Amino acid sequence: MGIEIRNVRVICTAPEGVNLVTVKIETNEPELYGVGCATFTHRYLAVVSVIEEYLRPFLIGKDPANIEDLWQSIMGMSYWRNGPVLNNALAGVDMALWDIKGKMAGMPLYQLFGGKCRSGIPCYTHAEGATVEQTLERVEALRERGYRKIRVQVGGYGGKNPNLHKPENPFPGAYFDPKAYMKNVLKLMEKLRMTYGDTLDFCHDSHERLSPIDAVNFAKELEQYNLLFLEDALPPEQVEWFRVIRQQTATPLAMGELFNNPHEWRTIVSERLIDYIRVHVSQIGGITPARKLVAFCDAYGVRTAWHGPVDMTPIGHAVNAHLDISSPNLGVQEWADSFTGLYPTLNGPLMQEMFPGMPESRDGYLYLNDRPGIGVDIDEELAKKYPCTESLVSWDWMLARLPDGTAVRP
Ligand code: MG
Repeated sequence: MGIEIRNVRVICTAPEGVNLVTVKIETNEPELYGVGCATFTHRYLAVVSVIEEYLRPFLIGKDPANIEDLWQSIMGMSYWRNGPVLNNALAGVDMALWDIKGKMAGMPLYQLFGGKCRSGIPCYTHAEGATVEQTLERVEALRERGYRKIRVQVGGYGGKNPNLHKPENPFPGAYFDPKAYMKNVLKLMEKLRMTYGDTLDFCHDSHERLSPIDAVNFAKELEQYNLLFLEDALPPEQVEWFRVIRQQTATPLAMGELFNNPHEWRTIVSERLIDYIRVHVSQIGGITPARKLVAFCDAYGVRTAWHGPVDMTPIGHAVNAHLDISSPNLGVQEWADSFTGLYPTLNGPLMQEMFPGMPESRDGYLYLNDRPGIGVDIDEELAKKYPCTESLVSWDWMLARLPDGTAVRP
């Protein structure tokens, strides 16, 4: 008898206060199973429902070897497709199948993808302060820790401005002033270049908050500071504006963490309107479509910078790293280093214990282990001690508002 899928289980856990979703596919061989990341932290129960109610019955009894066929079948079987809930559910399954494939081959995934293109993965992490001065202090701490590429923010997404001119009885929300925000970031960049010259690479995430014409101006103003990239200058709904930005400035552009559907990246890649594709691998459906995206981008000179936030399991981070190390067109990898103290501790002791085998960052580079498959496991008993809760599903900064109270995309 050949190998077949016996069970598909979902493990939800919230170590460090972030809801994470892991898929585990078990086979008829007792020791052979795979794990994948299906984390859509803000709608995690919807993902669980799709996997348990729809994908599990479909997958039981199937041959785990036929990843491409299973991926194509699941993508089509709901007829309506390419949304974040369905894609995350599919991605968790897809990664678990690749994990099984690697274990059956006795090789780490990157070997199946063609082997290493470099010995370590250049990564960047986040420096963020309430003020320009505080951000500078954190940049220095990260530089001393070995980072040479750093994302710099001041005052949270959109910045904090205490002098907002609000209307009476303002709606609740995270108010920000686009003009003050842009000015403050430019001030930060000036200080950083005065302090470090060209010895460090800096990127900045404008988190798609600006109006299109403000984004054009902002990218132009930033050109003098020679960024690694400006991230998410526009929301996905306004990607045609990248043509305007591109015609006016050579500031490198990164885009895509909200993308779900191939239509969203096809034009900006094939017209060479961006420099880095930054999709969230589980949001596009997992390893199978991500490998195709790598090849597609490579043809147009676009490099990868996969989204690497805290709302992703270490399994998902390891998947990023397998893609990174085997892709000729890797740009850089985002890594939420616990050292910053800004975010839940991705690589702190609890995460390392719950997800043994996760990638390790040293001196600004990320390293994978050489275990077969993805190389990361989950301690289910420990995971049970940190249950997910509904109170964790939304974050304050997501209710973004302009000074007059208008809601904007966060
Ligand atoms: Mg981002």
